[in-house]
Amino acid sequence: MSRVIAVANQKGGVGKTTTSVNLAASLHAVKRSVLLIDMDPQGNATTGLGLDKHNPPTPLSDVLVGDANIQNTLQAIPDTRMSAISGGPDLTIAEVQLMGLEEREYRLESALRSVRNDFDYVIIDCPPSLNMLTVNALVAADAVLIPMQCEYYAMEGLSALIRTIETIRTAANPDLHICGLLRTMYDPRSNLARDVSRELLEVFKDKVYNTAIPRNVRLAEAPSHGLPALMYDQKSRGALAYLALAAEILRKDSASKAAA
Ligand code: ADP
Ligand code: MG
Repeated sequence: MSRVIAVANQKGGVGKTTTSVNLAASLHAVKRSVLLIDMDPQGNATTGLGLDKHNPPTPLSDVLVGDANIQNTLQAIPDTRMSAISGGPDLTIAEVQLMGLEEREYRLESALRSVRNDFDYVIIDCPPSLNMLTVNALVAADAVLIPMQCEYYAMEGLSALIRTIETIRTAANPDLHICGLLRTMYDPRSNLARDVSRELLEVFKDKVYNTAIPRNVRLAEAPSHGLPALMYDQKSRGALAYLALAAEILRKDSASKAAA
């Protein structure tokens, strides 16, 4: 059984793409088969994996609003056994075109059915908005991972995201749940970061991952080399933090499987 995780937060710059790429690489490093889907028109997850965002063989947009076969969108990531699907340069146009289609919320979910079970994990990097692309990701997903920076306005955006998740659960995807909140670019020396982190733990309790991702320059540098941090600087604090996150996610998933 595969597990589909949408990495979502409508705020930009909170570490969604960094988390998607590095979590995918870390799950792959511990021998899980992984597919990463880039649902952000900016295409940063695609380039972060060393693929060309301008010229994917078949872009996901052709699946979402056309009749392309999702099998043709799969791309192998060099020197790994990971696969990726790139949104393509027309993903923004596709987002608008989706509005006029029947079953528009279900396009990704229905396409994904034929490939998801070829992978242990499918990670979806969402755009920084609660638009139809994000809705498609949330309808297709089993769980939502929410990266957030522990800063002043962080909690504010969270309630809109949680309301959207509730709406999608009621209307389209009853099993959707938050698998965890991830503190990113975390600096424990900052009083504000510690305060927000404390508040987050009070409100969301064990929904907050024990692993917090530190601010680490290697995580910011690696994408310019088209590599996840683990392949760019294996021993960097950033790469090790994402490995710890992957281990925590695997532990939680096997505990919930055992309980089911
Ligand atoms: P989002 O996808 O939510 O917009 P990104 O993952 O693109 O956010 O991150 C925003 C910026 O912050 C990028 O330049 C990225 O390289 C950098 N960044 C993300 N996480 C870290 C981190 N833990 N340490 C240092 N830089 C980071
Ligand atoms: Mg991004």
